[in-house]
Amino acid sequence: MDFKSYIKIVENYPKEGIRFKDITTLMQDGKVYKAAIDEMTAYAQDKNVDVVVGPEARGFVVGCPIAYALEAGFVPVRKAGKLPREVISVDYGLEYGKDSLTIHKDAIQKGQRVLIADDLLATGGTIEATVKMVEELGGEVVGIAFMIELGYLDGRTKLDKYDIFSLMTYN
Ligand code: 5GP
Repeated sequence: MDFKSYIKIVENYPKEGIRFKDITTLMQDGKVYKAAIDEMTAYAQDKNVDVVVGPEARGFVVGCPIAYALEAGFVPVRKAGKLPREVISVDYGLEYGKDSLTIHKDAIQKGQRVLIADDLLATGGTIEATVKMVEELGGEVVGIAFMIELGYLDGRTKLDKYDIFSLMTYN
């Protein structure tokens, strides 16, 4: 399927010089959304995934249906102040800003096999921070799945120890 034809590119959003890839136009077509999730699920199918971890908010849109299809758990990674119980946190840099991410301290058990999922790989800062927290809790990152990879930002080199799948790449 030509998934790229369902992505809208928005110039200068959220700030000047950024060419934002809008996935909502893909998601609003049920057959295409399902086909995209099915391909990402197929990538992870034989990895014996215990939990899928996704950063808010678009990591939920991608990670939750994959978790459901794999019969795996889902663990949210959220911005500081959003999770109600004890968390660990890590600072990270974004393509356009800086922030800190958190995960519940008891969300992953030692030795659990973790798939990380998000809509898009840009600089890799978000997922690098997510990997750090998963590993601090004792999880093993067995794969990382993206809908979109921005090849020209080279986020992949930050994550070169890991197995990465992306449905679409923009160069
Ligand atoms: P990174 O940390 O890899 O630089 O940025 C990736 C994060 O920023 C992802 O969680 C993603 O949701 C968001 N992001 C950055 N650029 C875009 C974009 O062009 N489109 C979408 N949908 N998300 C983006």
